[in-house]
Amino acid sequence: MAGIKVRTDPVTRSKLGESALSDLREELRAIDCQTCGRPLRRWRRPALAVYADGELANASLHHAGCRPPGWHEGPMAPVSDVPHLTWRAGTFVMPALLTLGAASDGTPFFLVNPSYEAALLQYVDGKRGEDGEHGETSENRENRENGEDREDGENGENGEDGEDGEDGEDGETARGWQVWTVEVFKELGLDGGLHALSPDAVPTRGLTASIADRRISVTVRGGEVHHHWPDIPVSPETERLARSRGSIVVGVTTLFDIHKPITDLQIGMHVATGEFAVGVAALAGSGGGKGGRRRKP
Ligand SMILES: [Zn+2]
Repeated sequence: MAGIKVRTDPVTRSKLGESALSDLREELRAIDCQTCGRPLRRWRRPALAVYADGELANASLHHAGCRPPGWHEGPMAPVSDVPHLTWRAGTFVMPALLTLGAASDGTPFFLVNPSYEAALLQYVDGKRGEDGEHGETSENRENRENGEDREDGENGENGEDGEDGEDGEDGETARGWQVWTVEVFKELGLDGGLHALSPDAVPTRGLTASIADRRISVTVRGGEVHHHWPDIPVSPETERLARSRGSIVVGVTTLFDIHKPITDLQIGMHVATGEFAVGVAALAGSGGGKGGRRRKP
């Protein structure tokens, strides 16, 4: 992915560094200006404006005439107050073959890119990595078994063993701003990976779906986060499978434009590698798979 070209100012470039800027160029899509709401023109580079509030920042695209590129410090508007933000979603059935044994039947799937012209950034100070390490235990274990890597750990202040040494081993926890749009959903519990595809997977707290008139609406709620993605068409087969399991799998990604073709294989790979945030949305009003009978409030 080449990513889009954006106008930036020197402060933003030095704060973000090339790595975060390059991630932003790949994640952001120039659809609508986040100031005036009108389309961003393909032949004019949009301006990148960043609003930083402590360890969090929001980067968004604008017509350069509406808002010049710049870095601003101060409170950010919640997502629900960003009226021009584009999101797109689609539904499909993930073939059983691609679930690597997680499901024997097709899996009903809702895939959403929640944020086209804006991205969330998190300042990672290096120590934060300690929390993340629990998800990578097998990798860490391999490192430790290598023996040679242990030197770092043994240089720790208290030469006891194990825990303290881990600080220095994880090279991925370099300090600086990192794109965090999808991580937020993982923090909310959409961290299921492949096992979310299993029909027995427990629904994710704060994630719900409802189907009516061949359209599905999905809501995710937790802390200050509230997203609602309404009225996405569902095929009869997706609906049947969702009603039969009483839930639908929800994948959140910023890697794809959902309106462009994506193969099942690409999706399966990204679910397996943990690049999508993946959760299970309980289907409201599904009373055990009979389908067709639903009560509206
Ligand atoms: Zn504008």
